[in-house]
Amino acid sequence: MEDLKEFCKTFEGTYAVEIISQVEEVYRDLERQSEEFTTCYSIHCPPGCGTCCEKFLPDVTEAEALEAAAYLLFVKNAPELLDKVLTHQTQEDPPCPLYMENTPFHCQIYPARPLICRLFGACANSDKNGAAVFRKCKYNPTDSMPLSLRIDDQRPPEMEDFALRIHSISSEEHQLLPQAISAAVEKIQMMVRQFGLFGPENSIDPDDTPTPLAS
Ligand code: SF4
Ligand code: SF4
Repeated sequence: MEDLKEFCKTFEGTYAVEIISQVEEVYRDLERQSEEFTTCYSIHCPPGCGTCCEKFLPDVTEAEALEAAAYLLFVKNAPELLDKVLTHQTQEDPPCPLYMENTPFHCQIYPARPLICRLFGACANSDKNGAAVFRKCKYNPTDSMPLSLRIDDQRPPEMEDFALRIHSISSEEHQLLPQAISAAVEKIQMMVRQFGLFGPENSIDPDDTPTPLAS
């Protein structure tokens, strides 16, 4: 992601950057496949809908959480948003703490949102014969798109394939988004301190809280 380019350059060679690079490769592949599929079948969510974020709290992997945490820490200049996630560490029920109704896209980390959030409304599952089947989101009233599709030629992004790729990036158990992002924030802050102590002379002061690189 362009927004995290400077972060990746500054901390090149670290565990977090290695992981984030792999996550972004999966996201890029998904976006490409998703764009082709949704264009081909006119699949789209109605403007302004955010019901999935209101009724859902995603489970995310360590890798997805590192991407989201780096975005929150270094791109989004919003300490109150970070506090909101950290104070929701014990939250187990929706809505997602990153959902904000009156903002574009609603999601406060939209460019760094987890895999499942990218798949909402525009992916397929495999049926028992391995065929890709798409079913319209039950909250989507759009009547110009198919209710259900069995797809043989234009393959849509399949949930299982992308989930497998994301899960294979890091071995830690997945957790609910607030817990996973809080743990990832801690890891990145620790990395920044270590990098400050052992990295190049012009690295970040180890006593500083990370400052946004692109605010
Ligand atoms: S991370 Fe963003 S897209 Fe995903 S559930 Fe939360 S607000 Fe919605
Ligand atoms: S996936 Fe469904 S609930 Fe989510 S934005 Fe699209 S139509 Fe709305």
